[in-house]
Amino acid sequence: MKISKLIGKEIYDSRGNFTIRVRVVLDSGVSDFFDVPSGASKGSHEAIELRNTSGSVLPAIQKLDVIESALKDIDLSSPLDLDKFLIDMDGTENKSNLGGNTTLGVSVAFLKAYSKNIGVSYYMTINKLLNSLLKSEGIVVDINIPVPMFNILNGGQHADNHLLLQEFMVIPTQYFNNASELKKKPVSDYLNIGATILHLLSKRLKDENFFYGVGDEGGVTTDNISDSITALANISDAVKSSGYKLYDDVCFGIDCASNYYYNEQTKEFTFDNAKYTSESLLPVYLKLLDDFPISYIEDPYPEESFDDFASLVEDSSNSTLIAGDDLITTNPVRLKKAIDNASINSVIIKPNQIGTVMESLETVKLSILNDITYIPSHRSGETLDSFITDFAVGTGAKLLKAGSMQRGERIAKYIRLLEIEDELNGNK
Ligand code: PEP
Ligand code: MG
Repeated sequence: MKISKLIGKEIYDSRGNFTIRVRVVLDSGVSDFFDVPSGASKGSHEAIELRNTSGSVLPAIQKLDVIESALKDIDLSSPLDLDKFLIDMDGTENKSNLGGNTTLGVSVAFLKAYSKNIGVSYYMTINKLLNSLLKSEGIVVDINIPVPMFNILNGGQHADNHLLLQEFMVIPTQYFNNASELKKKPVSDYLNIGATILHLLSKRLKDENFFYGVGDEGGVTTDNISDSITALANISDAVKSSGYKLYDDVCFGIDCASNYYYNEQTKEFTFDNAKYTSESLLPVYLKLLDDFPISYIEDPYPEESFDDFASLVEDSSNSTLIAGDDLITTNPVRLKKAIDNASINSVIIKPNQIGTVMESLETVKLSILNDITYIPSHRSGETLDSFITDFAVGTGAKLLKAGSMQRGERIAKYIRLLEIEDELNGNK
């Protein structure tokens, strides 16, 4: 299979910022495209996005001509061949030469066109590629419909309010309450949980005459809540009024994205209107985990704090997922360091943090080999592209972070989940 053309187009993401659409045309004439997402609360070890000073991605689009010429006459038998080629051609640790937005655009668009050309769904190709990487370990991963983690209250860099903590999520408990013993639910049941609780939380805030808006990931944003305890108490009340049961049906997750409330100079955290060191913050987090049904906490410490993460893993219950996002940036080298330090038991997978599908799958592979719960994730600046859902299903992920039950770019990921479920059940 050869690539005959790479076509770039400057489009907009869900925040109205520029991003890139890459279309790959194969020599067979088949083509497909990928719209690359973009983060706001980025880790500093993420792949570099090529943009000019006004935010335009034209520099990334210009790189496509160079890649297209370099690929001329090269036969690609697998998407992994293309990704190896892109990694070599870029030659840097952080894709600063070609741009991570450029390489991911080409990588995913080719995987999609390749799948279309041979008549298989994207998630099937992902599954085949992951299993080829795992073959030497004698491990086979099955495709799986993940449980969605619904982000229903937004703060931090995703909302213009006083909440420093970035994401409050409600999560159907299927994964946490020993999934093997619980019958998995249809996707529509999960989506109903997310939508019902979101609507009840919105209604609560409106009834209280709180300022009400919608944040970057579709969760509610309000000016009237400025600490995590009040936030979690409001979400608890919304759950109670829904008929779903806390602990039995629904638990909570939080993404602290703590880079945002950490001061590098003073080494202090400003959290819930008080100042803390990393040591004095630990009991505050532990109390929060105790007082509310929180089964998941992401980036509680900043991106270099491997030891502080390890203290939280050590002191919290084994069933709580402590996840690294900015800490790991989907980078297998950083994941290895976190594993060696026992810093985390869960990792966020965002393909645009590393710049190719293959490297994202390498990070998934390392997670599987070390019993780390891997969670594919959208970005706060999204597009209507739902590839991340196919990626999650194909890698057999148990959980998926794709935002709230409002905003079209978030709903697109959940509709894709419904479509895949239908396909797997033989319903067209
Ligand atoms: C996150 O931090 O998990 C997230 C999705 O936000 P962003 O895309 O802004 O990094
Ligand atoms: Mg995060």
